Formats: sequence, structure tokens, C-alpha cells
Amino acid sequence: MVSTPAFTAAELEAETTRLFKAFLHVDCTPGKSWDYEACRKFAPLTLEINRLKQEKDAVILTHSYVEPEIVYGVGDFKGDSYFLSLMAREAKAKMIVFAGVVFMAETAKILSPDATVVVPDRGSGCSLADSLTGDQLRKLKAAYPDAAVVCYINSTADVKAESDVCVTSGNVYDIVSALPQRRILFVPDRLMGENIRTELKRRGVDKEIITSDGTCIVHDVFDAAAVADARARFPGLKVVAHPECTPEVAAVADFVGSTGAMMKYVKTSEAPYYLMLTECGLVGRLQVETPDKHFIGGCRLCPYMKLNSLEKVRAALAAPRPDQIVTLDENIRRRAARCIDRMFELAPRD
Ligand code: SF4
Repeated sequence: MVSTPAFTAAELEAETTRLFKAFLHVDCTPGKSWDYEACRKFAPLTLEINRLKQEKDAVILTHSYVEPEIVYGVGDFKGDSYFLSLMAREAKAKMIVFAGVVFMAETAKILSPDATVVVPDRGSGCSLADSLTGDQLRKLKAAYPDAAVVCYINSTADVKAESDVCVTSGNVYDIVSALPQRRILFVPDRLMGENIRTELKRRGVDKEIITSDGTCIVHDVFDAAAVADARARFPGLKVVAHPECTPEVAAVADFVGSTGAMMKYVKTSEAPYYLMLTECGLVGRLQVETPDKHFIGGCRLCPYMKLNSLEKVRAALAAPRPDQIVTLDENIRRRAARCIDRMFELAPRD
């Protein structure tokens, strides 16, 4: 039985103030505001969701790319998909609401099979994960039978089940270097595969990297000419890129790394201006957590991540519809879990 929300004027005012203080520096989604009036509208929802969470023994995992009112209003953990899945497993909650995209919720289900895992919006796919099915990977494997199959964590449960080991953008170089096979079938990110090729060559590691053809529609469009233009306008600018960007962009960035590594780089750097070549939600997080730094735009919105909303989180938590509940075939789940466990063995922590 779920309680009917009835909040006092004082509770609503206190929640509005809490949200407003958190969002003081946020300005990351064009056309959207986090001013006091906006916070007043968020307050009844965030109060209700936080109450429901306790009643249902639930945790809410919020990817850094979703909107700040979800991350800071109701999220228990915030970060990238790998970190969030680890937190889900450690939290041992009965219910996990994954405010991110579907492949991430699948990863949480793989690692926490006894929990009810729900997604706010079933349409929150991913151009990268959805570029390759398990069937397609089986055909690729048949063409390269001597290759070790390495899947990026941004992949479906079916693809993980067909892979030897999973990797994140933070541990991929170490794991690929440690594998005994020379030939590596890396899926599903073609651009990250190209960046791996370059980095391993730089490290003197001899591997043949074969890729499938997926890309992230957020990261594959940044271009090196825009970076040069930004550098001319902002002396001392630091350019920070994700390895899902093109090799041309990676080559002109000051730093290339995973979402977590990008945040650490900005937090520990002294530069006044940053160009973040990634999703705008990460810029929103940095605006909250490093208000003394300046971000000069250039980021892009992920349409899948932006399908999440407080209203949908509330609905998934209160009474999830069948399409919001993540289910996996147990054989696929077990094989996918083995692929992730292998990552933990080869690189215990990002
Ligand atoms: S930002 Fe790219 S990789 Fe991440 S969910 Fe969106 S499309 Fe997928």
C-alpha cells in the first residue's frame, strides 16, 4: 500500500530551498531553467519520490547524463553505468530504479538478479548498445574464431552473454593488454576501437583490433575544427573528451577519459575554462560540484537520457508497468554475469 502524499507548506518550502541551493549554478539544457519557481514545481514530486523510496526499500541510480532535478533531487547514487551497477549490488535493495538507459538497467539486473529493476522509460535506448544484437555478434565471432571477444559495457545483455570479457572506458586498455590473444574483436563502438588501437600502439602493445560499426550519436559528431576555434577564443582552455569521440578529436584534446575520469580531471585542474566534449548532463554535474569553473558550451544532449523525468520515476516506483520492469532470460543473465565477473578479475575497480 502506497501512502497518499500530503506535504505541509513548510515541508514544500524547505524542499524548494534545498533544490534551489543545489541548482544555483546549473544551466545545462537549452530552454530549461532551474530557478526558484522551477524548484517549487519539482518539490512535491521529489518529496513524494523520496518517501516512496523508503516505503518500497528502493534505491534510485542516476546516470550523470540525466537532468539535475533527478540526480540531485531523488538520486541515491550518481555516476557512470559501471559505478552505478556496483552501487546497486552493494545496496542490496528490493527495488532498483535506474534513471539512465535500458542497457544500464540490464547490467544492474545482471548483477542484482533478486531485485526488481525498473526503468522510467522503456524507449530509453542507446545508438551504441542497440547497434549490435547477440545474433549479429555470433556471426562476427564465426568470422574471427581465434579472437578474444571484448564488449564495452555500453552493450545489451545478449551481447555481454556472447563476449569473453566486458570493459569500461576506464579499464579497457589494461584489460585488452592483459588478454593472451593477439586478435581482439571489440564491440560495439567502432570509434572507441580506433582510439584503443592508437593508445595500445603508443604503449607498445601489439594487438589487432577488429570492431563492429556502432557509434554514440552524442560523441561521434564533435569535430577538431571546432576545438581549434574554441582554443583561439579562450586562451588557457582545457579540452576534455570521452573516448567515444573520433580519433581526430581525441588527438586534439588535453584529456581523454571515462565520465568519472573527466570529472576528476576538471576537479583537480587549475584552468579557468573547459570545453567538455560529452553529454551536457555531465556539464550540469560539474556546474553543481565545481561552481568556480567555467564551461564554454559545446556539449550535446542525449535524447535517450532526456526521456527520464521525475514524473516517470515516480510512476515506475509507485506501480511499475510491465514494460518498465527489466526481465532477462536466466541463461543469458548468467553468461552475461560471467563476462562482467571476468572484468572484475582483470581490473577489480575502475
Ligand atoms: S550518450 Fe551515447 S552511449 Fe550514452 S546513452 Fe546516449 S547514445 Fe548511448
